[in-house]
Amino acid sequence: MGYQWAMSRSVLIVGAGPGGLATAMLLAKAGLRVTVLEKQPKVGGRTSSIEADGYRFDLGPTFFLYPQILEEIFTTAGRDLHREVPMKRLDPQYRLIFGAGGELVCTSDVERMVAEIAKLAPADAPHFRRFMTYNRAKLEKFAPCLQSPFLSWKDLLQARLLAVLPYLKPWKSLHAELAGYFRDPRLQLAFTFQSKYLGMSPFQCPSLFSILSFLEYEHGVWHPIGGCNALSRAMARVATELGATIQLDAPVEEILFEGRRAVGVRTAQGEQRADAVVVNADFGHAMKTLVPDRLRRRWTDATLARKRFSCSTFMLYLGVEGRYDQLAHHNIYVAKDYRRNLDEIENQHVLTEDPSFYVENPSRTDDTMAPPGHSALYVLLPVSHQHPNIDWGRERDRYRAVAMRQLAKLGLTDLERRIRFERIVTPAEWENKVGIYRGATFNLAHNLGQMLHLRPRNRFEEFDRMYLVGGGTHPGSGLPVIFESARITSRLLLGDLGHAG
Ligand SMILES: Cc1cc2nc3c(=O)[nH]c(=O)nc-3n(C[C@H](O)[C@H](O)[C@H](O)COP(=O)(O)OP(=O)(O)OC[C@H]3O[C@@H](n4cnc5c(N)ncnc54)[C@H](O)[C@@H]3O)c2cc1C
Repeated sequence: MGYQWAMSRSVLIVGAGPGGLATAMLLAKAGLRVTVLEKQPKVGGRTSSIEADGYRFDLGPTFFLYPQILEEIFTTAGRDLHREVPMKRLDPQYRLIFGAGGELVCTSDVERMVAEIAKLAPADAPHFRRFMTYNRAKLEKFAPCLQSPFLSWKDLLQARLLAVLPYLKPWKSLHAELAGYFRDPRLQLAFTFQSKYLGMSPFQCPSLFSILSFLEYEHGVWHPIGGCNALSRAMARVATELGATIQLDAPVEEILFEGRRAVGVRTAQGEQRADAVVVNADFGHAMKTLVPDRLRRRWTDATLARKRFSCSTFMLYLGVEGRYDQLAHHNIYVAKDYRRNLDEIENQHVLTEDPSFYVENPSRTDDTMAPPGHSALYVLLPVSHQHPNIDWGRERDRYRAVAMRQLAKLGLTDLERRIRFERIVTPAEWENKVGIYRGATFNLAHNLGQMLHLRPRNRFEEFDRMYLVGGGTHPGSGLPVIFESARITSRLLLGDLGHAG
């Protein structure tokens, strides 16, 4: 199909999150007329920044794993990702502190990692290499599934998925899988807590996701200079250079349909029509606010209410006078009773008094995040998604005090008097201000019943010429797979519009 012909085709993308921006790059490069409509005054969605008083914080993602997919997207767009966004591979990649005692400084240097494990549990040390070898094979078999669309249950019969079956072990949780390598419960946690990136407990998360910790050790944990939000800004810049238009402060109020075909959107400025509509806005929220319930057959409000959703997060962004060089770049405190902590988050929906938490101290690596002699600390506590049991209007200040008490366990005892800037984000704000269904920051949960063809599909099954991209569709939440969803969705859309891509 000729370039001129494709030029006449237009696409509207609802949302300038990482999924929407990567799609804009790919479709603009393919010659489509692309307009991105973003309701916020800046790009990036959950992967944007908070900037104030000389401090810069990532709003959401701080771990950039597996840059390969975004590198390939930039290459397709004729750019070099590392030139657009300089980044550092972190070593150590993070420090784990166990409430039960002991700590582990995790590195992707295999020799050093074996030695670190030996300090904690000598008998477990040799099994690290076995874990890596097995998961290398597993990821190799599973990668093609992540790269292709799952549009029907028949896709489950594809040879590539059949190849992964021996590794899938649907009856096994991630935690049970790791117990096959490490006997020390702290090491089991060290290689399973990554399921939190999907907003899930390792005791419920499918064993398949042992590839997450493998990915960290094999391909590294990266820090883009300026934070992960720099990726969003770079994608927006490149998409614009390739001809896409990004309109900020432009909330879409409704998606327009003719019969069962999406034909455009309505904003405060009026109607805009296009040959296709791509939705990057949070899936559940977008359904409830942009598509009338009566039009939906599969993803009705009632169905959404029955689905399992990820956890949420309580956030503290602290601009602090002074440096905290005793902290690593990424620090994760694992609660003494981790299992109970998770049960309270996922099943009981109550707040925990000794929560696990994560604190990022990026100033250690990157001097663009805070003024000289200051630190920009990012603190995240996983908590239940919005639930009637928890009233954040009442709990907000109390839970801030819990967070400060936890931080003191890492030696941050003088924090309170050094704080120069502070912002708190609770699940209520994720839901009401950011527009995330139930404040579930990592979207629909990733249990096997909500994955592959059972997740809302990239070529959205409800309407013609409507597509999904981002953490709510296949393959799932987390930047690398969100970028993969942009490739899958773009390929489908270009094919449907009769464009070779
Ligand atoms: C606290 C937190 C920590 C995370 N940490 C990591 C991490 O370390 N590593 C990792 O890989 N992933 C992480 N994630 C998960 C994931 O990578 C990010 O959430 C990611 O930003 C999701 O991208 P997305 O493309 O789905 O869209 P989003 O980031 O959700 O963006 C959607 C966009 O749509 C816009 N929008 C919504 N409604 C409308 C409308 N009606 N009209 C116009 N625009 C609209 C929104 O304003 C937003 O800009 C984290 C997430 C959170 C919240």
